[in-house]
Amino acid sequence: MASPLPPSPVGVHVRAPAKINLALKVGAPRPDGYHPLATVYHAVSLYDDVHAEWAEPDEFELAVSGEGVEDVPVDDTNLALRAARLLARVHGGQDRLGVRLTIRKAIPVAAGLAGGSADGAAALLACATLWDIDLAPEVLRHLGAELGSDVPFALLGGTAVGGGRGEDVAPALARGSYHWVLAFGHQGLSTPEVYRRFDQLVPDPTPPEVPPDLMNALRGGDPYELGAALTNDLQPAALTLRPALRRVLDTGLELGAVGAVVSGSGPTCAFLVEDEEDAVDLVVALSAEGIARKVLRATGPVVGARVVG
Ligand code: ATP
Repeated sequence: MASPLPPSPVGVHVRAPAKINLALKVGAPRPDGYHPLATVYHAVSLYDDVHAEWAEPDEFELAVSGEGVEDVPVDDTNLALRAARLLARVHGGQDRLGVRLTIRKAIPVAAGLAGGSADGAAALLACATLWDIDLAPEVLRHLGAELGSDVPFALLGGTAVGGGRGEDVAPALARGSYHWVLAFGHQGLSTPEVYRRFDQLVPDPTPPEVPPDLMNALRGGDPYELGAALTNDLQPAALTLRPALRRVLDTGLELGAVGAVVSGSGPTCAFLVEDEEDAVDLVVALSAEGIARKVLRATGPVVGARVVG
């Protein structure tokens, strides 16, 4: 039960990572409209920050700054606000609790990196800490699944297998740390639109399964094997909606990446490289090509949403 007095007047700061999908296998839509997935999530070192401060009972406020802020809703559809309200309703008594949330975004919006889910996960953890609601990690993840399929993974982090519609997560047996280069698109891609295109392109998909070669590569920790095993069933759909992404993927591979894949529903392209030096080189070379809005380096796996400071 929530404490009636503000336990933390200065507020709580939580940082949550972006994800890429090392594998994303998609089945035929279920009766509830969701697609069954077999995915391997991988949390990378690109973070949104969420700060939560005590507010008057039943006051839920939000301010957003940073990357892509003009495309982030600040009303009740924002996943961070939805997370705060959900937690208050289920575990605290909405009329007794309030929060002022501030999001600083570094994860681009509608980029296939689950930035909104990262904010939802961060807000859940920040509010639980602020309001002194003590929940086991699996209970928090269960709550996160009500907000969105990628939220439980944003709480868990690391490298994990996702089943169901992606919300059913379990840590993967994985060795090593990997260097990534992320190339952001000029415009976001709508996830529902990419799934609609997938349904047209693949009217009769096989039931999704996590590829064994990818799991073997993760156990071995070899970037070359992992690079060869990266796979995304949504990639052809994303490429028909954004044909220019083909050139981005090809150019990254020509410039030395050991693997390339569209992340989730896109349009972000993720390139795996051998080491940090290659990552620095690829960022410079890809940026010089002028085919991506922004090119960044990241490492993975990193931990999920955590209280910092
Ligand atoms: P999805 O998680 O749907 O696969 P994505 O990872 O490509 O999508 P997100 O950055 O999560 O992209 O944004 C998807 C949509 O979610 C946005 O277009 C926006 O309308 C909505 N949204 C809600 N809350 C947020 C938030 N805190 N940050 C970004 N987008 C949000």
